[in-house]
Amino acid sequence: MSGFAVRFEAWLPRWLGWLEGRIVERRDATSCAGFVVGVWPLLLVLWCLQCAPLLDDAVAVHYRPGWAGRALWALSLLLVWLAGMGLLGWRRRHDASPQPWLVQLTVVPGTLGLLWLVMGHGFKDNPSPMLLLYVVVVSRALFVPRALRWAWGLSVVSIVAAEALAQWEVWTDAPLLVQPMFTGQALATWWAVWVRVVFLTGVLPLSGVLFVLAIALGRRRRELEALARTDALTGLANRREFMAQLERESRRHVRSGQALSLVLFDVDHFKHINDSWGHPVGDQVLARIGTLLRQHTREQVDTAARYGGEEFVLLLPDTDLAGAQRVAEKISQRLRAEPFEAQGQCFSVTQSVGVAEVVQGDGGWALRVADRNLYQAKQAGRDRMVASVAFAEDAASGSNTERRLRP
Ligand code: GH3
Ligand code: MG
Ligand code: MG
Repeated sequence: MSGFAVRFEAWLPRWLGWLEGRIVERRDATSCAGFVVGVWPLLLVLWCLQCAPLLDDAVAVHYRPGWAGRALWALSLLLVWLAGMGLLGWRRRHDASPQPWLVQLTVVPGTLGLLWLVMGHGFKDNPSPMLLLYVVVVSRALFVPRALRWAWGLSVVSIVAAEALAQWEVWTDAPLLVQPMFTGQALATWWAVWVRVVFLTGVLPLSGVLFVLAIALGRRRRELEALARTDALTGLANRREFMAQLERESRRHVRSGQALSLVLFDVDHFKHINDSWGHPVGDQVLARIGTLLRQHTREQVDTAARYGGEEFVLLLPDTDLAGAQRVAEKISQRLRAEPFEAQGQCFSVTQSVGVAEVVQGDGGWALRVADRNLYQAKQAGRDRMVASVAFAEDAASGSNTERRLRP
């Protein structure tokens, strides 16, 4: 992410950050509070606009007699109701249990109230559908579709019914108004103001919420990508990440000509550890080996990965065979000296090691050579290291240098 995006994210107003947290968390109670936080300001702007016909006769002439006041009353009630639901949601914010009634009592009036007010003004000839789109996006971000079926179902029924009534001329397109906003002539002054205010009231929060959603999704994606690259038990890279890194480093090695080495570790008689002390103790041993590998490798440069069950691998850029042997030896010595304890008894753990230096960027071949070296170390009695440069021509001759770790 660019520096600008990081700074901007840090400066996001707190409630946007809070809303983002709720989007990810999806608890009914806090989602209701989030819905009210998101929708209430919009309704407040509409409430202010709806006061105009009661204060100014020039605006009142656009409304059917008495209906501007009724709409204002309904809107006031809706604001008070939603504020109550929002507070209730906030008070229950630590309660993770499903709250279906609270959700319905918040989302259904919030959505329908706004829809009916907008329909009353004739929503086909002004930008008010943007407000509806905003409410749809906010509610979909905060709630699962199942929770929204009443609000959205009743909204569709309302729109279809209003459309049918308008077709049969029982109803007009803008039932609150004497005539629609657009009459084919210049827009009345009040409607020119109304349209601009409603446009901004819709477009600004809609852009804001889409921005927050993009950030939330981006963060989520990065978390999932990190999980997909990591081994859960040891916190090291997993095999897939290691293979990708091997490919990258092999290409870099060809370009730069710098040395590149691989070290494969396999714990000796690990099955015996599991059988003697139990699987959880085996897991502890693996986690400890993971820590040792991390401690003995360079952050951001080397890759330490769990290759399989009790097999680990190091990818060491800018390191020749002798350097890789030194690293492997240090780790093996530390592991051998490490006292493990289980059921009041101490035991030690050893590992066999296969090392290979990559030549001409053939990381895949080097991995096979390291694996073969590891096999030879096992065959020769375990707790030792076999190392060789992975020359392609050596594949048949097997000219490896062998060396015991312990005299
Ligand atoms: P060797 O010296 O020949 O390598 O013998 P070994 O017993 O270490 O090798 P083997 O391949 O026979 O057994 C590996 C064991 O590792 C078998 C498997 O149950 C165990 N294992 C694999 N993954 C895990 C894990 O995540 N946790 C635990 N506790 N054990 C695991
Ligand atoms: Mg093994
Ligand atoms: Mg083993």
